[in-house]
Amino acid sequence: MSTLSARHIPLSHLVPWLLAVPALLLLGYLVLMDNGAVSQTGGYLHELMHDGRHLLGVPCH
Ligand SMILES: [Zn+2]
Repeated sequence: MSTLSARHIPLSHLVPWLLAVPALLLLGYLVLMDNGAVSQTGGYLHELMHDGRHLLGVPCH
């Protein structure tokens, strides 16, 4: 008698997570860390996210 039962998670249940987690990581990176170095937007992305950065307490000046 085995008490260990394997549970299979259907791929269709994993797909939303496989899309959401990288998207949230990318959004977090763009808001919190990218200053145009990777996104190649110059200061545009920084200015766009500036108030949000201050709201979250991210040092930027
Ligand atoms: Zn600032």
